[in-house]
Amino acid sequence: MSRQIQIKAALDQVRSEMSSGVELIVVTKTFPLSDLETLYSFGERHFGENRQSELSQKAATLERDINWHFQGGLQSNKLRAIVSASTYIHSLDQLHHAAKISEIAVELKKRQRCFIQINLDSVESRVESSKRSGIDPSELSAFTQRALELPGLVIVGVMGVAPLNTDPRPCFASLNQMSQEILKIAPNARFISAGMSGDYQIAMEYGATHIRVGSSILGLR
Ligand SMILES: *Cc1c(COP(=O)(O)O)cnc(C)c1O
Repeated sequence: MSRQIQIKAALDQVRSEMSSGVELIVVTKTFPLSDLETLYSFGERHFGENRQSELSQKAATLERDINWHFQGGLQSNKLRAIVSASTYIHSLDQLHHAAKISEIAVELKKRQRCFIQINLDSVESRVESSKRSGIDPSELSAFTQRALELPGLVIVGVMGVAPLNTDPRPCFASLNQMSQEILKIAPNARFISAGMSGDYQIAMEYGATHIRVGSSILGLR
């Protein structure tokens, strides 16, 4: 089977399982431009990347009507390049980054759309030391209030990653609660970015509006 046919079959499979109104982000990190071109030819316009250099390179090369979703760790010295290339940032979890992103966005005459990443590791008690990024759920309201004061940002919702090897349901339920909470302060921040190849169907049951799917469509990295 050709690579294109393989990708089309996998893409059709995921699309057939999607709830209506949910946005599919194909996570293209580590995959070559040719795969992005294939996905584009099948109508995909939302791509997810984790590294600034790879994002910048791909965004500079491909067509303009693509929505680029940055979901990797943020570093201060890379924020300018990330803001320049990203339609959405999913991994906002530090206020000093928020301030800097806002400043850069204002300079670039854009408003940077951001999800606030929530650390869901504490939801499942089996996960002990948490290395994953994201703010603690208890910080959401204060964090959001501060972020809303920044003129270059638009807070669009919450993002979470369920820890590996645990039942994702309590995590997605908790993220859904976080979504309700943020809506009280930011009525337009209604998006929930949740679910990857292993758990996107479950994430949609818990209200995900954006699913981030890589390996189920493009294969193992
Ligand atoms: C890599 C990655 C994904 C996609 O993971 P798959 O298991 O390949 O679907 C989704 N979200 C984040 C934050 C990622 O880093």
